[in-house]
Amino acid sequence: MCGIIGYVGKREAAPLLLEGLKRLEYRGYDSAGICVADGENKLAHKKNAGRVDELVALMDGAMPKGNWGIAHTRWATHGVPNTTNAHPHADCHENIFVVHNGIIENYRDIKEKLIKEGHIFISDTDTEVLSHLIEKFFKKNLEEAVIKALKLMRGAYGIAVVAAQDPGKIVAV
Ligand code: GLU
Repeated sequence: MCGIIGYVGKREAAPLLLEGLKRLEYRGYDSAGICVADGENKLAHKKNAGRVDELVALMDGAMPKGNWGIAHTRWATHGVPNTTNAHPHADCHENIFVVHNGIIENYRDIKEKLIKEGHIFISDTDTEVLSHLIEKFFKKNLEEAVIKALKLMRGAYGIAVVAAQDPGKIVAV
């Protein structure tokens, strides 16, 4: 069972998110990732197949700076445990990032439609349909886009989403 953590506040988000992932390690996982917005609301992310400590080492002291973000430990259900399939997953322009626990049962149909519409997928996960579908529906308000996207989803899941164009906010479902 994997883990999700998010933070919005006045403190640096990355250390808090990584500490949160450490506390969730007991649940078991195969990869870990983090997405943090900087002071100009640009979203930076890092992810890795392996332990949270390895993710920290990968950042080599240069953690993304900013005070809102999300993080995830994955237990793969769709796609092998590798870095590409690790969460967070982005839309085509890395403006929207999603972390997700659980399964989206009808992801294949949605993925096929989105590819026909021009979306570029890079992972084998069911999760990635969410970031692209939210991208498709996003105007200004992230909640509205998430609600529209989830109306098309079947399955049991939890998600957390951030968008560069709707700053200081995490939408969790
Ligand atoms: N189904 C998603 C995946 O395979 C999420 C798995 C999980 O719950 O960690 O990436």
